[in-house]
Amino acid sequence: MFELFSHTLVLLSSNTAFYLLTVGIVSLCIGSFLNVVIYRLPKQMQLGWQQECRVFLADELKTTAPIKPNSASRFNLAFPNSHCPSCKSTLKWWHNIPLVSWLLLKGRCAFCSAVISIRYPLIEVSTALLSVMVAFLFGPTEQALLYIVVVWALMALTFIDIDHMLLPDQITLPLVWLALLAAVFGITIAPSEAIVGAAVGYLSLWSVYWLFKLLTGKEGMGYGDFKLMAVFGALLGWEFILQIVLLSSVVGAVIGGAQLAIQGKNSATPIPFGPYIAAAGFISMLFGDEINAWYYGLLTP
Ligand SMILES: [Zn+2]
Repeated sequence: MFELFSHTLVLLSSNTAFYLLTVGIVSLCIGSFLNVVIYRLPKQMQLGWQQECRVFLADELKTTAPIKPNSASRFNLAFPNSHCPSCKSTLKWWHNIPLVSWLLLKGRCAFCSAVISIRYPLIEVSTALLSVMVAFLFGPTEQALLYIVVVWALMALTFIDIDHMLLPDQITLPLVWLALLAAVFGITIAPSEAIVGAAVGYLSLWSVYWLFKLLTGKEGMGYGDFKLMAVFGALLGWEFILQIVLLSSVVGAVIGGAQLAIQGKNSATPIPFGPYIAAAGFISMLFGDEINAWYYGLLTP
């Protein structure tokens, strides 16, 4: 057994095609799990908040009536089993194979033929493609492994933010700690750089938020955005924060503008900022050094 494991490790680090294929298949399955996280984690959080409100109100009203537990205790990432949202039929294991099942079922439920959103296979495929991209650029290294895990988390954060305007602490905060620990273990940058990076990342958006709020009385961002920026600061160092802020603004202006033009929403419609930070941060993880060299090169004649 151990023999097999060590042989696999040797093969992973010596055979590029095998390495990329492994990363691709594993990430495809992770993408399938991310679909569950994207759907269930916010729901679970909402049920939890409702429960907290009930407890708080009961306390406030000094009622002695027992508080009915809601369905929060019966809903988590593993329970209930995957089922069709339309006909509630529990899915068989062969309906849960990432991408393959969706293609074989031609995007329809096996029981009631309800359309299954193309978003599910798209999330699986993009998780796999982005992970393979990291694996290809960084080779079979600890840094690649760390970055791939970050990519998985970014996928979940992006789609939860799009759906709910929310970047859950359950995902952002562990990423901050992971990035800081990676620095301590010598996988990324010097620990002091990572600590300063996390602080600068958080405070950069935090100060923009307060400036904007004091000037206009409106809230342009949320605290999740600051935490996500802290993740990238801890991963890459403070020198990359300006780059990520600029990149995310550019991406945000282009996509947000196009969306407003197409959907005709007015500019007061809140747009989640997390996906843009995630996209910009991902670009910086891969090409940040080149981008920094390029624009600092512009400043020095
Ligand atoms: Zn169905």
